[in-house]
Amino acid sequence: MALAVATPALCQPDKSSNVLVERVGETAFIQLRAPSFQALTPRQQALAYWLTQASIAIDPIIYDQLSAYGLQEKRLLEEITAHPKGIDPAAMTKISEFAKLFWANRGNHNELTSQKFLPAFTFDQLEKAALVAQQNGAFQTAYADLPPLKTSADLKHELEPLRASLFDPAFEPMTTAKSPVGGKDTIQASSNTFYPGLSLADLKGFQEKFPLNSRVVKGLDGKLTELVYRAGTPNGKVPPGLYATFLKRANDCFEKARAYAEPAQAEAIGHLIRYYQTGEYAEWVAFGTAWVQNDATVDFDNGFIEVYRDARGAKGSSQSFVTITDQPITTAMKKLAENAGYFEQKAPWDAKYKLQSFKLPVVKAVETLVETGDFSITTIGDNLPNENEIHEKYGSKNFLFTGSSRALDEATGKTAIAEFAAGPAEIERNAKYGTEAGRLMTALHEVIGHGSGKLSERVSGGAQPFLKEYFSTLEEGRADLMALWNAWDPKLKELGLISNQEEVTKAMYDSAALVALTQLRRMPHGDTIEEDHARDRQLIAHYIADKVPGSIEQFTRDGKTYVRVADYQKMRQGVGMLLAELMRIKAEGDYDAIKALVDKYGVHFDPALRDQVLARYKKLNLPTYFAGMNAQLTASFAKNGEVEKVEIRYLDDPVAQYLDYGAMYDRGLDNFSLKPSR
Ligand SMILES: [Zn+2]
Repeated sequence: MALAVATPALCQPDKSSNVLVERVGETAFIQLRAPSFQALTPRQQALAYWLTQASIAIDPIIYDQLSAYGLQEKRLLEEITAHPKGIDPAAMTKISEFAKLFWANRGNHNELTSQKFLPAFTFDQLEKAALVAQQNGAFQTAYADLPPLKTSADLKHELEPLRASLFDPAFEPMTTAKSPVGGKDTIQASSNTFYPGLSLADLKGFQEKFPLNSRVVKGLDGKLTELVYRAGTPNGKVPPGLYATFLKRANDCFEKARAYAEPAQAEAIGHLIRYYQTGEYAEWVAFGTAWVQNDATVDFDNGFIEVYRDARGAKGSSQSFVTITDQPITTAMKKLAENAGYFEQKAPWDAKYKLQSFKLPVVKAVETLVETGDFSITTIGDNLPNENEIHEKYGSKNFLFTGSSRALDEATGKTAIAEFAAGPAEIERNAKYGTEAGRLMTALHEVIGHGSGKLSERVSGGAQPFLKEYFSTLEEGRADLMALWNAWDPKLKELGLISNQEEVTKAMYDSAALVALTQLRRMPHGDTIEEDHARDRQLIAHYIADKVPGSIEQFTRDGKTYVRVADYQKMRQGVGMLLAELMRIKAEGDYDAIKALVDKYGVHFDPALRDQVLARYKKLNLPTYFAGMNAQLTASFAKNGEVEKVEIRYLDDPVAQYLDYGAMYDRGLDNFSLKPSR
């Protein structure tokens, strides 16, 4: 389960910093830096190199998962961007800006709001540009499974079917529509390709053999079948499936990485290779089991992991990251984990939902080397694996992406809280303790939030099948509330994890109350929230304001809306009430109750208030969205193929990074020999 960042919405750009390398409209491109890389041994650096190559290898998959047109559009934009010569400069500027946003969001829907964004160029301009690029050598090779486009007729034939997807706002307007309109159900209204052409009614009673990693389609005989995401086994016993090209390439990189990994990590990598070959869930569980018990300095994840993109909550989207442990912060986090049992006992819910014994979670603060697929810089914490059967037995691994939080902080600098804070006390508190509060919130959320609580017999296999499209909102809300609840606990002071408990905790509460207002800027259209983290945050703020009068108050000053925590202890009382209820709902799998709660407090907002928030932000000229730029690792090789040396550098140009990634597949299907580096 991932935790997306809540605070940058309040931040002001700091011009002295240069991690922010590019801005396109509301989106800022920020460098992820990993200074710990220099301290790695050559063997660890070689491991890091091949793991990042595996991450790059799976990157295209998400474009296809989010839209049936994603890969073709990706190739089209990359080929034009790589061959700009002779293209009308005005059109080229617009195409290039759109391409950057397309890469940043892994397609033409905003990754946070799920809403489609449109190009500033016309279809004719696009076609002309593509034809000029083609004359200059574009489209002459295959891109993964897409054939070359040798003639202008080929190119036009390719372009026409992309017209609606790119230019028609009414065509597939959302990646994932959890509250669909216009008579369509949640999967019909979503552009993602988990169930193309199907309705929820079609899926009723259908039992998937590969729930996490397959596309469900209707065959010619009218029966449903699964197209499994898998590479196939070398002996041909298991045939290749969907995404075989990408998974094979990833496996080639994993084979190389395995040679540099310590035995326990090598075992995990072996299971992942097997999983990508066969698609078998048992191998995925074997991977997760080995992976969760391994705490290597150079760590990674790679797979079909989070189910947020599927309104049905079953299909995993492809994602990966490679990280290096940030040692000092990690040591502090370990203390929290060692006391998980203490916090469980002090949780405000019914004793029958309390765990008696704990597997200590692995807690690690990390710097990120690479993030690809459905994983972005705004994910500042992650608790994995998601499989209940693994974390109940072996615990879970908690990542705090300190490299990402640092980059976001540096890029956006001091808060724009002057605009939104209720008063001078909140401004001062945020300046002094805001960063610490944000880090502590993330740590508590991941370390003692998600792992807490015991389920009833009835839902012992996991609450997800019971709570369906509300599960993720509930789970993120529960973890946030555990953080808010425990921030007051004297244990944190005793463990040396908090400087000024009163003020840090108040800063955390200020932010939790205010975010329901400020996050509205991320929903520029409509009047409903789709994204689970955004829903959970509004649920918390609005529920408490409604149930505990005098806790959180909304007021108007000079025609502007503000939010203030009027009484911190009353707010904490509300935190406890909602936390106890969410835990009960999870433990009992009470769908009706979570639906009622989220629909009432977490989904709807006042569009007039949103417009006001947007207008105030517009004046501040802050970025709304953030795209991470990965470090570039370049390896040199000895004659025997061994890695001799790995160098790290930070790119200033998003185009360079994405064209470099795209180039991994421009030699077509027949050539699987690995390009050592570019
Ligand atoms: Zn979370």
